Amino acid sequence: MKESDVYVIKLSTVKTIKIIGIILIAVILIWSWFHSQSDSSQLQTQQSSDSQIENTSQIEINDQFTNIKEQHYTHLPITYSIDIPSENYYFDTYYGKVAMVGRETKEQDIRTAFKLIENSTGGIVKFREVNPQEEADIHVIGLTPLEMGTFLSEYNASSDGTLGLGLHENITNKITNGTIYFQPIQYYENTALWTYSRCTLANKEVFPDTEIHEILHSLGFYHNPTYINSIMFPMKLTNKCNVKNIDSEIIQCLRYIYSNGSLIGDCALTNIPPYLKNYSLEEKKDLIWNSFPITYSIFNCESPEKYKLQNVIRDFETVFKKKNLFVYNENTISQINFYCNDTYYENLYESEIADYWENFQPAIKSYYVENMGYLSRSDIHLFYPSDCKRVSYASNFELVALYRAIGLRTEEGEDIKDFSCSYIPGFSSKTMSRLKEMYPSLST
Ligand SMILES: [Zn+2]
Repeated sequence: MKESDVYVIKLSTVKTIKIIGIILIAVILIWSWFHSQSDSSQLQTQQSSDSQIENTSQIEINDQFTNIKEQHYTHLPITYSIDIPSENYYFDTYYGKVAMVGRETKEQDIRTAFKLIENSTGGIVKFREVNPQEEADIHVIGLTPLEMGTFLSEYNASSDGTLGLGLHENITNKITNGTIYFQPIQYYENTALWTYSRCTLANKEVFPDTEIHEILHSLGFYHNPTYINSIMFPMKLTNKCNVKNIDSEIIQCLRYIYSNGSLIGDCALTNIPPYLKNYSLEEKKDLIWNSFPITYSIFNCESPEKYKLQNVIRDFETVFKKKNLFVYNENTISQINFYCNDTYYENLYESEIADYWENFQPAIKSYYVENMGYLSRSDIHLFYPSDCKRVSYASNFELVALYRAIGLRTEEGEDIKDFSCSYIPGFSSKTMSRLKEMYPSLST
């Protein structure tokens, strides 16, 4: 459960892959449940092997795209195989109804996704399906929720809510293979249903957004967290099929790459190496309140959530041995305003992204107003999935919301990195020292 918008996990254990310089990108989508509950998860892992350099010379790749510095497969057509177990896939029709599709339909959606990418480039990029026994460039594999969980645990990642995972391996800018995993339905405590969402366009044709997203990961593209309607936005919005096409920048980039540069264009506007943008670090800095006490209000929260927030504020005061750092106001706008949301409100995600989404399950979104170098207002939106609502004690979720409210945005202490509504507030020493730097009065 969790995730920072573009959350990079550096892996300590390198799998025994006999190729050097492998960068393994694992990016997970999403998810939406069923009915009004909203929930998503995104993960990006990046792994680089700094050893095994002696193997370099053994590998020779015949590259048909020698003019291209962007990450790419070295030949066309790019082959793919589909190997998913014969389970049923459920999907959310976006009208509050969950429907089910069989394996063949799921496979067909995957084929459609490859076709749509190919067509979008005017046939410049070509894919060819091969059967699972053959060696393919991209392996599309179905995993059961259990298998997916085991797989992700190897990557020190949580699998809740994950329906798709797109990976690729590369040697410098040459992609040697891709793997895409999908997982079908998952029950959650007998109540909520993880769903495979399926979008259709106005002409009733299926637009397999998840499949396209994952394929683009395996082609080298990373997330674009700055544009809500990008196919590479890191999460899928509940009850929305807002993404209706592949970004023109991505199409132009693919045409450029797979024409070996003969078609005009480049990839500078996309998030593909070497143009990789680290959105999670970009433009983020800590913001500071001028002085304590700071007033705060809580809006739209049910009493357990309100209680949890207030508890975490008391814990904070206790840990720093200070009284009345925060003063509660009822029903009026304060310096800090917490808002509880069950789902991703349309007006929030339609609006310009003021601050990146962080974590997708649960999620926090922060807005700040600064005046003369100091914070004058923080609005912190907490998005509670239902399993968080079942947790009665204050958790790292509320703690991180408080950290954000007081302007701490850059610290990556253990209490923040993996925030979740099931952990009891940690107050990592790293975070505490950063807070003391920001607010020297907390150390006295
Ligand atoms: Zn993704």
